[in-house]
Amino acid sequence: MNANDNAQQSGSFGLLIAILIAIIAGVAVGGLAPEFGHKLDFLGEIFLNALKMIVVPLVMFSMLVGITSLGDVRKIGGIGGRTIVFYMVTTGLSVLVGLILVNIFRPGVGMTPGEMHATAEYRIEGSYTVRLIGSHQWERENLNEYVKKYTVALLDDEGEPSYVGEIAKIDSTTATVKSWSKVGDDGSYIATMDGKNLHYQSEDGTLVEVMPEFSSGKGVAIALPIAAKVVDKQDRDIVSTLKDVVLGMIPVNIFKAMVEMDVLPLIVFSLLLGAVLTILGDVGKIVIQFAHGMNEAIMKMVHWLMYFAPIGIMGLLAGRIGKEGGFVQFLPELKMVGMYFITVLIGLIIHGFITLPLILMAFGRRNPWKYFLGMAKALMNAFSTASSSATLPLTMEGVEEENKISTRTSSFVLPLGATINMDGTALYEAVAAVFIAQMYAAADPSIDLGLANQVVIALTATLAAIGAAGIPEAGLVTMVIVLKAAGLPIEGITLILTVDWLLDRFRTTVNVWGDSVGAGVIETLENGAGSSDEEAAAPA
Ligand code: ASP
Repeated sequence: MNANDNAQQSGSFGLLIAILIAIIAGVAVGGLAPEFGHKLDFLGEIFLNALKMIVVPLVMFSMLVGITSLGDVRKIGGIGGRTIVFYMVTTGLSVLVGLILVNIFRPGVGMTPGEMHATAEYRIEGSYTVRLIGSHQWERENLNEYVKKYTVALLDDEGEPSYVGEIAKIDSTTATVKSWSKVGDDGSYIATMDGKNLHYQSEDGTLVEVMPEFSSGKGVAIALPIAAKVVDKQDRDIVSTLKDVVLGMIPVNIFKAMVEMDVLPLIVFSLLLGAVLTILGDVGKIVIQFAHGMNEAIMKMVHWLMYFAPIGIMGLLAGRIGKEGGFVQFLPELKMVGMYFITVLIGLIIHGFITLPLILMAFGRRNPWKYFLGMAKALMNAFSTASSSATLPLTMEGVEEENKISTRTSSFVLPLGATINMDGTALYEAVAAVFIAQMYAAADPSIDLGLANQVVIALTATLAAIGAAGIPEAGLVTMVIVLKAAGLPIEGITLILTVDWLLDRFRTTVNVWGDSVGAGVIETLENGAGSSDEEAAAPA
C-alpha cells in the first residue's frame, strides 16, 4: 500500500465518522427540537438534489464503460442471467425470513382494525360530534390512538356505513369528526386530501359540504379508512404492475426517461448503445474513450459531493423527524404498532447481518465485514435518503473504489439492483400483509391465514418489490397489490402508514446492501475472486 492509498483510506474513514456523527446529531435535533429540525431540511434537500443530478449521467456513462469493456458483448447474457437469478433467490430468502418471523411473533393478534357498535344508540351534537347513549363506550384504552387515523361511521338499517368522518377528538363516549362524507351508492366516498374539509361530490360535479340527514340513530362503527396515499392505486394488480415494468424498459423517449430518472429504460438504451459501439471499429473507439472520460469525471463529482454528505444527511434526518413532531409525537405512534415494527426490523437484521454475509462469503469469497465497511457510507446514505436510486452514486463508489469490484460488473449489477432488487422491501411487504391479515382475522373469519395464502403473499411481495421504484415509500404503494392478491383489506395500510417513513429507511439500507453483495458475488462468479478494475479501465 502506498502513501496515496493510506491518505485516501484515512480520509475515507474520517468521512465515515463524520457521517455517523451527522446521523446521531440529525436524529437528536429532529427528535428534541422538531421545529428547528424541520427548518434544517433544506440542507438535506440540497444534498438530495445533487445526488439525483448525478444518477442519470452516472448510470449511462458507467454502463457504456462496463458494456464496452466486456470484450465480447455476448457475455452480457451470462452476467444478466446470473444477476437476475441472484436477485430472485436473495429476495425470496428475505421474504421467507419475514414470513417465519411474522408467524412466530404474530404482531397483529390482539390488535383491532376498529370496532363495531351495531346496537348502540347515538345522538349527533353540534353537527360534528357523535355521542353514544346509555352504557355504551368506545373500546380502546388509549383513545388517542383513534385520532386522525380512524373514522367514525354511522350505520344504516343494513349495518352498512352511510356517513363517515375522520376522528379529530374523542373521549370515552363521544367522538368529534373533522367533517362528514356520505358513502356513495357504490360504497365509495371522497376522502379528504387536505385533511381539513371532507366534501361530498354532488352529481353535477360541484363540491358541497355534507351533514347527516338525521340527528340520532342506531349503529356506529370505528374503522380505518383507505389511506389517501393509495386511494387512487386500488386498480393496480400484479399483472398491470409487472406489465408496466416490462413496457417501461423500452423508452419511447430517452430524454423523458432521463428527466424522470427512470433507470430501467436508461439501462436498456445504454446497453444497446454500448453493444453497437464495440462493433463500430475506430469511430466507436472515440465514443468509448469519451465515455471513459465522462465516467471518471462523474465519479470525481461523487467524491466531492461526499464531503457535503454529513451536513446533508444531518439536514435530511433532522428535517424528517422534525416533520413528525419529534420524539414526543412520534414515539406513541411507534408504540402502537411496536410489535410489527420490531418484527420487520428483526427480519431485516437477520437478512442483512446473517443471510447476505453468508452468501457473500460462500459465493463471493469476500470478507463480509471488510466489504460492509467499504459500503458503510452508501448504507448510511440509504438510511438517510430512503432511496436506493438517489444512493446509487455512493453505492457505485463503495463497490468500485472501496471494494475493488470492476466497473464491468458494478455498472450492470448496481443500477439494475437499485430498481428491481429490493430484499428489504419484499420482506416488509410480506410481514405487513400478514400483520394486516392477523389484525382483521379476529373480526372477520373469511380472512385466510393458511399456508396457501401465505405462499400467495410471498410471491406477490417479491413481485411487488420488483415493481417498487427506488424512491421513498414506494413499497407502501405497491403493497396494495399484495393485499389485493391475498384478499386482504387495503384499509390496513392506514395503520402502518405513520411509521412507514422510518421503516422505509431500514429497508432501503438492506435493499442497497443486497445490491452491493450482488456485485461482489457476480464479480467472483464472472472472473474469480480478487479481480480488479484494471482490465476494465482500458478502452477496447
Ligand atoms: N425506499 C425504498 C428504496 O428506495 C423502496 C421502498 O421500499 O419503499 O429502496
